[in-house]
Amino acid sequence: MPELPEVEAARALAERWTVGRTIVAADDADEWVCRPHPPGEIVTAIVGRRVESVERIGKSMWLVLDDGSRLGLHLGMAGRLVGLAPESSGLPDTAGEPLTARERSDWSMPVRSGSRPTPTGLPGEGSWSRFTIELDDGGRLVLFDKRRLGRVRLNPDLSGLGPDALLVDEDTFVTRVGRGVLPLKARLMDQATIAGIGNLLCDEILWQAQQPPLRPASDLSEAELRELHGIVHACTREAMVRGGVHLGDVIEHRKKGEHCPRCGAEMVRATVGGRTTWWCSFEQAWPPVED
Ligand SMILES: [Zn+2]
Repeated sequence: MPELPEVEAARALAERWTVGRTIVAADDADEWVCRPHPPGEIVTAIVGRRVESVERIGKSMWLVLDDGSRLGLHLGMAGRLVGLAPESSGLPDTAGEPLTARERSDWSMPVRSGSRPTPTGLPGEGSWSRFTIELDDGGRLVLFDKRRLGRVRLNPDLSGLGPDALLVDEDTFVTRVGRGVLPLKARLMDQATIAGIGNLLCDEILWQAQQPPLRPASDLSEAELRELHGIVHACTREAMVRGGVHLGDVIEHRKKGEHCPRCGAEMVRATVGGRTTWWCSFEQAWPPVED
């Protein structure tokens, strides 16, 4: 599932392919991905508009158009953006992950609003390219989404998002994260507190910080919160360098029978904040293990 590092890679890709260019066509025929907009509504709003910038807070990303409107692109559970060169004259820009054969077969499809049947979402039917915009240089930005859980929206509501986890300053982090009785993991994953940390990244952060996921957030001292802020930034940047949150140091040990790669204690799991959580039974125990 895309978390902040993956969405930031997609944002940078969208920036490379769209900023400074004018949208000349779009395919918004997928009524599910584009809901509540009927086919043609997004096309009418964005064709002829120039893309000024591509912005992101947490896992939410949007294009800013020259009339001040915003086109929200949400990757959902498995969506990704691909940049396609004019008439397939260059290699597709996939931010590192190659196209699948199925995505490749969608590559040469013409971009026309409302021209294709709505995909059923069943395997082997319909197209995996859920939304496409074509720019005035002939390039295209395509949302590929096998699971069809991505979302395209005009002027998405961003009011519920806290500050971005990669950009939030230390004092703001200490104030926002260090209050309340929620377990620390649930607090860090609450997108209204800070935006961008998902399940895997959170397990990696808490393991690197040697902090218990079940510890109440308000139990941490100010010094511990300041240290945690640094680790959130370091882990997020490291995931961006490595190419995804799934490549963290503890992620492959999130399995039954696995052991902590630092101290060798057994890894344990429970559901925290509604998500399957793994941690080191010794270093991240709550209450702490007595020596
Ligand atoms: Zn350990």
